[in-house]
Amino acid sequence: MTKDDCIFCKIGKGDIPSATVYENSDFKVFMDLSPANKGHVLIIPKEHYDNIFQIDAETAGKLFSLATAVARAVKAETKCEGMNVVQNNGAVAGQTVNHFHLHLIPRFEGDGVSVTWKQGETEPDELQALAKAIRKHI
Ligand code: 5GP
Ligand code: ZN
Repeated sequence: MTKDDCIFCKIGKGDIPSATVYENSDFKVFMDLSPANKGHVLIIPKEHYDNIFQIDAETAGKLFSLATAVARAVKAETKCEGMNVVQNNGAVAGQTVNHFHLHLIPRFEGDGVSVTWKQGETEPDELQALAKAIRKHI
């Protein structure tokens, strides 16, 4: 299924051009137009899924499997020292394009890129209770 108004569906189909790194029948890997760092790539399924809550496990598994190969290729080319794998879901989490995508962001010492959060506080009992409550839904 594709969505007529979805920019990544159009990129997946080739209707909107992209700097394509790799594609097969199911996935497309292309350069982010506004990269956080040199070598920032995106991986999308060609089929439309809004987010992680919608994509099926098999497609997501294949996508992440492909991500391991792409990550190594980006590292080989950019000589990055590290990499952030980012995947935003929902506007509140920073998702701006509502078509599931994985960001691979190469990292270099002193690059000033920020993909962090302030560490919070909790109690062991609270963690145990939450773990048990979440487990019930799996
Ligand atoms: P999000 O904020 O949804 O996790 O990430 C969306 C990403 O898509 C952003 O990093 C943005 O730069 C990238 N992006 C948005 N529109 C286009 C486009 O038309 N072409 C490409 N190559 N990247 C895009
Ligand atoms: Zn789409």
